[in-house]
Amino acid sequence: MTTAQARTEPQDVLDVQPTPLALLLLGREADPRSERGVECPGDLPSPSDPDLVERARAAKEKLGSKVFVLGHHYQRDEVIQFADVTGDSFKLARDAAARPEAEYIVFCGVHFMAESADILTSDRQKVVLPDLAAGCSMADMATAEQVAECWDVLTDAGIAEQVVPVSYMNSSADIKAFTGEHGGTICTSSNAKRALDWAFEQGEKVLFLPDQHLGRNTAVRDMGLSLDDCVLYNPHKPGGGLTVEQLRAAKMILWRGHCSVHGRFSLESVEDVRARIPGVRVLVHPECKHEVVAAADQVGSTEYIIKELDAAPAGSKWAIGTELNLVRRLANAHPDKEIVFLDKTVCFCSTMNRIDLPHLVWTLESLAEGSLVNRIEVDSETEKFAKLALERMLALP
Ligand code: SF4
Repeated sequence: MTTAQARTEPQDVLDVQPTPLALLLLGREADPRSERGVECPGDLPSPSDPDLVERARAAKEKLGSKVFVLGHHYQRDEVIQFADVTGDSFKLARDAAARPEAEYIVFCGVHFMAESADILTSDRQKVVLPDLAAGCSMADMATAEQVAECWDVLTDAGIAEQVVPVSYMNSSADIKAFTGEHGGTICTSSNAKRALDWAFEQGEKVLFLPDQHLGRNTAVRDMGLSLDDCVLYNPHKPGGGLTVEQLRAAKMILWRGHCSVHGRFSLESVEDVRARIPGVRVLVHPECKHEVVAAADQVGSTEYIIKELDAAPAGSKWAIGTELNLVRRLANAHPDKEIVFLDKTVCFCSTMNRIDLPHLVWTLESLAEGSLVNRIEVDSETEKFAKLALERMLALP
């Protein structure tokens, strides 16, 4: 890819081919107590309406400081242009809490993010998700019932008292509440090591939910544990598919969940890009598989990836292993650097991409007309324990 191409052909800048899998509809038919798959209850404007941008602008203007629009890094450009602030899920939730004058928090992200925003904002603030079908396949992989069953398995094995749960931010409010109630903490991809350090001071073992890759990568890469210290708990098998001896010997009990987007990158993608682009630096998210992380030059959260590319010298070459909307924006923002997508095929977060301009217009216009739509509200008991887990994270040394 040349610099000129990066400037003039933003759609082709990453040289990737569309794949039907890119439009997998994730987050449907899920546990109704965690991530829900629900159709839009209203009349959506047509995607071909040429006035959509103007309509969104007008509705937002009418709402003024009553509305605060949050845009996750993986959102489409058509939506991001209306975000008052962009960031990862935790930063966005905190930004919303810091804007108490905003009665409506429109979260352009996925369901668990809107739940976290509701937990962290005041009761007066109402969190709205423009498309209720925007779930997260990873969060769906750990339901409240499955995790309660897992705890019973750990109790029967006589180890529950030694186990501290650590749950990734990318989990439902129910799972966060379970974590808080059982003495554990939440973590993000930026502070996972600090969370694990803390957890191993509280107990001898960690139950890491729901992303096996972030758990394994942090334990092995950052904390010096071995792969043999980790076992994989499969919620679809009796006893998690593990023997009592395996559970007793393990230090890290990893939940068998993963991100459908980051899980697609392979060792082959890394080898292929190194062969294609001599001198390329491979920078990946820790939700990628362990073999991908082990083969990469650098590993870090979306915020880390953004900062590294901002600071990178002109002419440097990068292959990025994270969601395609973000990588495409970064490539367009840095035409002086060669930034390519790590995989050869398109790798959007399909559920995140459900939030499109028609849904945003519908949401903003409904709010401007005084109709509160698609509110995400966590019940008070769940909120109490989920907040406890989040507060433990905020207090991490
Ligand atoms: S990128 Fe992965 S973890 Fe993030 S919302 Fe999409 S499916 Fe969930």
